[in-house]
Amino acid sequence: MSDHLRVVCAHCATINRVLRDRLNAGARCGSCKEPLLPGRPIELTAANFDRHVAGNDLPLVVDFWAPWCGPCRMMAPAYERAAAQLATQARIAKLDTESEQGIATRFGIRSIPTLVAFRDGREVARQSGAMDLPGLLRWIGASA
Ligand SMILES: [Zn+2]
Repeated sequence: MSDHLRVVCAHCATINRVLRDRLNAGARCGSCKEPLLPGRPIELTAANFDRHVAGNDLPLVVDFWAPWCGPCRMMAPAYERAAAQLATQARIAKLDTESEQGIATRFGIRSIPTLVAFRDGREVARQSGAMDLPGLLRWIGASA
């Protein structure tokens, strides 16, 4: 296992190499100095999506959602808390399927919310339907 982990900055998308032991809530991006592990969902767009999928050594979980989707909005507070609790274990992100339809189509997203977990650049798990916080933590722990 490498001593270093690659972490894509949520703010500027620079790929940081961080010593595994130093990866904590205080870690900052070497380029823009923003916190590397913000403890809240990272907003993904067509501009940074592939970089986050390929460039993070931590597992990446993406919530495919939309502003008009009631169950998505209901799940949002639990998802934010999951992001805070898992800040050093996984990259927790969200993608607005309304503004980023190309990516939603590429992944064949037919219902939302849908969670997709990626590891080493590949999809490893997928789950549709809203979950509460215990359900989210369980699914992310088992899948990502
Ligand atoms: Zn940065």
